[in-house]
Amino acid sequence: MVLFSEYKAAGIDMPRKQNGFGNSKAFKGINTSINKGKVKGAAGSYPSNRGYGSSVSRTVIEKYDLDSDWTRWRRGVEYYYQGSAETIYELDSTGKVVVDSNGDKVVAEIVSKLYQDTPDEMDVKFTGYRFPTLNSDSRNHYVYKRNNVNPPNLGTVTSVQSDPLTYSENKARGELWIQTTNTNSILKRMLSDRITDGETEATILFVLDSQKRPGYYVGKTDVNKLASITVSVPLADVMSTTYIQEHGNNIHALVGQVGYLNSFFVQRAISTEVFTDGNYFFNVSVTEQDTNQDFEILEKSDLPPSLYDIASLTKIFTTSAASYELEGDYKYSKEEYQRFFGKAYLTAQVVEAQVNEVAFTVMPFTINSVLVVGNQLEITSIPFESELQLHSDTSNGYVVFADNSFTKKEIDSYNGNYYHDLGAPGSAQWYRIDSEVDPWMDEVFTSSNALQPADIYCCSCPDFSHAMMRMPESTGENGKSTNKQARYPLPTVMSRSDFDSLGMSQVAGMVNSWEDYKYRHSFKICKHTVAAMFTEQLKLKEPNAYPTVDARLKFEEKLKEDMETVSEKERASLRRSNLTTLELVYTLAQGLNLDEVETAYVVLNNSY
Ligand SMILES: [Zn+2]
Repeated sequence: MVLFSEYKAAGIDMPRKQNGFGNSKAFKGINTSINKGKVKGAAGSYPSNRGYGSSVSRTVIEKYDLDSDWTRWRRGVEYYYQGSAETIYELDSTGKVVVDSNGDKVVAEIVSKLYQDTPDEMDVKFTGYRFPTLNSDSRNHYVYKRNNVNPPNLGTVTSVQSDPLTYSENKARGELWIQTTNTNSILKRMLSDRITDGETEATILFVLDSQKRPGYYVGKTDVNKLASITVSVPLADVMSTTYIQEHGNNIHALVGQVGYLNSFFVQRAISTEVFTDGNYFFNVSVTEQDTNQDFEILEKSDLPPSLYDIASLTKIFTTSAASYELEGDYKYSKEEYQRFFGKAYLTAQVVEAQVNEVAFTVMPFTINSVLVVGNQLEITSIPFESELQLHSDTSNGYVVFADNSFTKKEIDSYNGNYYHDLGAPGSAQWYRIDSEVDPWMDEVFTSSNALQPADIYCCSCPDFSHAMMRMPESTGENGKSTNKQARYPLPTVMSRSDFDSLGMSQVAGMVNSWEDYKYRHSFKICKHTVAAMFTEQLKLKEPNAYPTVDARLKFEEKLKEDMETVSEKERASLRRSNLTTLELVYTLAQGLNLDEVETAYVVLNNSY
């Protein structure tokens, strides 16, 4: 075990021994167990029927102890000291770690793009760490960091509306607004994503125009009227491909392969869209047609094509003479947007008058059927869910942040003194992140730097993702099947609404998600991301809110036990170090800020 004095020596805040509230033992009968499995005898209301639709109410103190960021921080620090974060290196075809000309191991990078093929295109790369665990089938959890390559300028802050009296209504909603100028249109695509001015970082809830009306509306396909796409290509060109010839000239060999239209993201002025008003929803239907498009048929791989560079998939067929037609009917919840219109009633016509652009994605699709029509081959997709964004002009407007999502980053020095080893000249400095910034008290977005996308860390564990993934049952050390992530709760009536989970409902049985609105927009951490940050010399400040003394003492005991089994876990993980594709895909999807429909898409279209 690492001693507390060693934390001090390394300049890490020492875990505090006593809080300001006295000894928690004074409160008799309160269960302060931090073991989520043991709820026996706890106060609070626990229905005997824990089936779907029931809900568990823990007492305030119990819940506080369980959910404390402090316990995540404490575990994360311990993981860091134990060296549990194992960097993922590039492997060659024989499974050996690749080394560069200096003999240094080459870190594995996954290069991808956000908003590919639009003016908003952004290069990102992912680097990862592996953590051993007994709670996941792969015996590993993965932390991936999204690094922004040449991040774009997103705009300039002109005012921060942080006076709690003047903006009491915003405060009551948990929203902090800033006014921006020269705002990059890419911001509209970054809902739920984090942006930074180099010091302050926060999660975006809304982007509004200069009249405080929504900068975008997001509609989802009606479950009964899924979107579909039909692509026509010259038949003779397909027939002459090696792939078709190798399959006995059978055109149906293409069914199940991947169709990929290069204009993946479509963003254009509003034209023939039909707006229809309803009571609680309004609908917009789109028919998109285009000719002379680049289109490819690709061989299905283990990873879904939307995540990897599409160029890495084996091409069966390529043409630049494809035409396509896409049809979709999208519905928008009025409830989400009515508040921005005050007493005026929001109708489809009001929105139609305000917006000027539509944006949607044509994801690579699985080919459902092929049909010969004259000298053309018509390729039809499986019906899919998607979303349609309506955009308005937000070049001067407002950005709304979740007020519980603020962090501040600074060099880890105290009164100008830097206590870390300086290392070789030019080596990276230690930074400190304060995750408990109250934007109504502390100054935020004051650096006068331009806004940029933030580098983010995401993890595959359920504590971070608030999702549980179904994986094939495996056999544990003792011959019994292991119960993976089963101790995490199943979704109940308290989960997100039906409309929110439109996409995820399709993957029910593969992913159970209980991520709610508030959590999705907070600064998410888990013990793994905390340890990964420390490994990269980003020191997460010890959270001020920490559990009762009693709970912390029990926690320290449990932590000691946990850490003693880590080496055991590592042995197990070596034997089963295969990366579970589903875990990787889900983690990357979060890192790419894919919406639920897109996440559902990548999970469903991934063969594992
Ligand atoms: Zn984690």
